[in-house]
Amino acid sequence: MKKSIFAIAGCIFFAWSCTKQTETIPDERIDDPALETPVAGNRCAAEEVLAQQLLADPGLAARMQAIEDVTARYVKNPGNYFISNGNVVIPVVVNVLYKTAAQNISQAQIQSQIDVLNADFSAANADYNNTPSYFQPVRSGDLKIRFVLDQVIRKSTTKTSWRTDDAMKKSNKGGINPTSPSSKLNLWVCNLSGGILGYAQFPGGNLATDGVVCDDNATGKTGTAAAPYGLGRTATHEIGHWLNLRHIWGDATCGNDFVSDTPLHQSSNGGCPAFPKYGSCSASIPMQTMNYMDYTYDACMYMFSLGQGTRMNATFLAGGGRTGFAQ
Ligand SMILES: [Zn+2]
Repeated sequence: MKKSIFAIAGCIFFAWSCTKQTETIPDERIDDPALETPVAGNRCAAEEVLAQQLLADPGLAARMQAIEDVTARYVKNPGNYFISNGNVVIPVVVNVLYKTAAQNISQAQIQSQIDVLNADFSAANADYNNTPSYFQPVRSGDLKIRFVLDQVIRKSTTKTSWRTDDAMKKSNKGGINPTSPSSKLNLWVCNLSGGILGYAQFPGGNLATDGVVCDDNATGKTGTAAAPYGLGRTATHEIGHWLNLRHIWGDATCGNDFVSDTPLHQSSNGGCPAFPKYGSCSASIPMQTMNYMDYTYDACMYMFSLGQGTRMNATFLAGGGRTGFAQ
């Protein structure tokens, strides 16, 4: 059964046990070198951050539900809505926080990330055609979403690493405040602790913390970008969240991602699964492990679905949460 955002919020409010990893990362893990390397199953902290924001911000669940209502009307009858007569072009402000010279990533590395985003969101990525024939009918095609580098802001820091508490987005916490977040996508690049590759804020959140965060070793595809997360797909995944996509397993066993053409997933998939891979939700419908919203290696994720594209496009409608970008 499909669940509403309210149901999820209620679940988070009233039964912590029904969510995963809602606690913050303990301080003692921050400087553990073993945890500086990304680990399987720990790609992204977006849902954990959302759970904390829902607790801290009593109005957030209602704002997100209003966006869901807009999305539902669009999904039901997309032809009734005018979104754009061309591409939605999203200016990207890259905020680099560095302690070491290597963390002060190069312009070339930043541009390589922008290039990956433009390829992935237009389905021009070379590995798009790796999609198994089973899933080719539901591939997104060109999403008509483009990215252009607006500016790069760099700041030296004494912090060894950063937690998922949004400090990197606040100058009074040693970070960099977002630039024009209602009309520009802010991407913070820093050394994230706990082996986390990145996280994003969903539409409806506080503008002061809006944007996406990527670990410096999981940004772009050159320089400090490191395998198996060195092909720029962390930002593709996080911007999927920023445009209102959920993890493909719905952050629950066979959970709901609010998209009708993605199969149920038993849980996240890591590594590079061979197709077909079946989970406990269905013995006959394989999981879409190559979807950007799973947790597989960068080289093993290469598609959004049509339904995910529709859901992302809905954010550009009036009341959709990203209206300021559809100019
Ligand atoms: Zn995620």
